[in-house]
Amino acid sequence: MTAVANSSGPQAGALHIPAPVGLLAELTHRCPLQCPYCSNPLALERVANELPADVWVDVLKQAADLGVLQLHVSGGEPTVRRDLEEIVAGAAKAGLYTNLITAAVLLTRDRLEKLAQAGVDHVQISFQDTELTNADRIAHYERGHAKKLEAAGWVRALGLPLTVNAPIHRQNIESVPAFIELAERLGAQRLEVAHVQYYGWALKNRQALMPTRAQVLRSAEIVAKARERLKGILVIDFVVPDYYARRPKPCMGGWGRGIINVTPAGKVLPCHAAESLPGLVFENVRDRSLRDIWLSSDAFQKFRHTEWMQEPCRSCEFKEVDWGGCRCQAFAFVGDMRATDPACSKSSLHAAFADTAHGEAAGAPGPFVFRSLRASA
Ligand code: SF4
Ligand code: SF4
Repeated sequence: MTAVANSSGPQAGALHIPAPVGLLAELTHRCPLQCPYCSNPLALERVANELPADVWVDVLKQAADLGVLQLHVSGGEPTVRRDLEEIVAGAAKAGLYTNLITAAVLLTRDRLEKLAQAGVDHVQISFQDTELTNADRIAHYERGHAKKLEAAGWVRALGLPLTVNAPIHRQNIESVPAFIELAERLGAQRLEVAHVQYYGWALKNRQALMPTRAQVLRSAEIVAKARERLKGILVIDFVVPDYYARRPKPCMGGWGRGIINVTPAGKVLPCHAAESLPGLVFENVRDRSLRDIWLSSDAFQKFRHTEWMQEPCRSCEFKEVDWGGCRCQAFAFVGDMRATDPACSKSSLHAAFADTAHGEAAGAPGPFVFRSLRASA
């Protein structure tokens, strides 16, 4: 793994800090859709606080200098920004590979062409379901599904690689086979069958979203068979809900190890949910260079490496594999951000964690709290 040198002094052990490979740029929290599992924080950022394009371009140049290779342009919905082409062109100039993550309902063919000319290398479109009525109900947006299908066609017609993103939960999980067919039909290179992760809005809606364990296992079997059949044609990523896992995921590849998340207002986070942790101060690209924040800010140092761990992680053979799992989940469920992620079977709260999911999935789903500024904390 590549390491980066520390501009703030040789004493900081910089040789052991890996270079980040990816930067997630949340250009805005504005979005016409209202998905009840949105990964944006409950406290949505107002438009007045968004970084202007020239600051983003400078941040992306700094990111490339730091070692970042891939830029994920996200939101909210990034295409609400009229200056998106300028930001994408800045990324291309800096040599970044740009993945546009979009709900696609605001795209026109002309806009997509302009974005491709500016430097978009790849497009990822999220679908709420494969069945039109249910898809639009979950997005809380009329005629969205039809627009997404049209936009996906433009992506392929322009010769851009396409990823179909399918956030899965109890209210669309039976559509997994249809999602695979959809990705094939659209000529996608990649399909993400990603069970929603329960932070922020999804945590608020957990009971309405949690599938049963049997449903999750069935979807895993369907994906395994499709992977075999579509080898060399379609790559299928599969993410299970942590509540039914035995081991946690290495969240973001480990805290401060590979990914930088920059919020619409310029705060630099190790992951998009990190602001749910109390007492951490996340520095801003307006005040300090990206390099210095990555290398030496308190928030990035806090859970980097393994010194912060408690038992059972501290003496566990997997501590440099999953890095103790997710700090946000540990805090949300255990109330201690240093605790072992309850998704791990070695956590004393693992059984209670799984029981929560079983209990919620057993009842009829409650109504959604849709993601909106009005519902925002
Ligand atoms: S998850 Fe839905 S509401 Fe959230 S940014 Fe994406 S499209 Fe918009
Ligand atoms: S005890 Fe900690 S390091 Fe070991 S597998 Fe569980 S979460 Fe990972």
